[in-house]
Amino acid sequence: MQAVLVAGGAGFIGSNLCKKLLDSGYSVICVDNLITGDKRNIEDLISNSRFTFIEEDITGSKFKVHPDKGGTKFKVDYVFHLASPASPNAKSPKSYINHPIETLLVNSLGTYNLLELALENKAVFLFASSSEIYGDPEVSPQNENYFGNVNPNGARSVYDEAKRFGESIVMAYVRENNVNARIVRIFNTYGSRMQPDDGRVVSNFINQAIANKPITVYGKGTQTRSFCYVDDMVDGLCRAMFTQGTKGEVINIGNPEEKTIIDLANIIKQMTNSRSTIVFEQLPEDDPKVRKPDIQKAQRLLSWQPKIELNEGLVKTIEYFKNL
Ligand code: UDP
Repeated sequence: MQAVLVAGGAGFIGSNLCKKLLDSGYSVICVDNLITGDKRNIEDLISNSRFTFIEEDITGSKFKVHPDKGGTKFKVDYVFHLASPASPNAKSPKSYINHPIETLLVNSLGTYNLLELALENKAVFLFASSSEIYGDPEVSPQNENYFGNVNPNGARSVYDEAKRFGESIVMAYVRENNVNARIVRIFNTYGSRMQPDDGRVVSNFINQAIANKPITVYGKGTQTRSFCYVDDMVDGLCRAMFTQGTKGEVINIGNPEEKTIIDLANIIKQMTNSRSTIVFEQLPEDDPKVRKPDIQKAQRLLSWQPKIELNEGLVKTIEYFKNL
């Protein structure tokens, strides 16, 4: 049986990925230090004999580069690196703004440690990068050849620059050490196992609408995002990992259906029959004005494209939050 290590496996996307891998017959080692992940996300997986949870930090001693000098050796065939805080919202305790050093380290030292682990195991590697590496983009949609427009030292840089470093070290291991690694740039994703307090726009708006509390639109709400349902995202990640010919490739995975944030607020308000008002709050520093993935490369290399439309995904996500 083939073994897959999922770093960040108790997080939102990571836990959905662990479930899919177990359903596909793999044995799964889920590693998470739970600073932004949550054990409740993997509650239904723990009883599976093919699932192992290790509460550890991938920058810590168990993952240090030479395991024979005191660390733990993991025998794995595949390594997904999804470990990182990912929410930019400073009001959330889970935000990378509130975990700046951890965010920088998990994407730099953590990526280095996992690449060494992959090298030693001859394992196939996938790094979860982000649409944030495009910063506040000057072109739209963004394709993989765009270098981005990133503030190198603003509050958001702890994530953006860390992901950019992560991409760089992954490609260095491909070139220098012939590691079979690929990079997926994840665009905005939503769905079940999202943390209600992670401060992301979809979780905030749905929870505010359900509670008939004011829906907080930052800025004028004219900024755009494109929202991918988590099942589509997990399918894209698996295809990027398991499809031949993806070594050294950088691939956008996201849903190209673009919405303004004010439209999203109104859609969610209507779908939840909410009495919430819409209030306007200050736009965070360096908040990207547009974001929309060009997914032609994913279509060509992976025969992937999202199947779940926004309305359908929102129905499922509203149900999930109502049942929490
Ligand atoms: N946003 C908002 N209200 C909220 C949370 C977020 O208007 O309660 C906006 C945020 O300023 C950004 C967009 O929604 O323009 C998406 O934010 P999110 O934190 O989900 O992810 P991002 O794409 O910024 O990483």
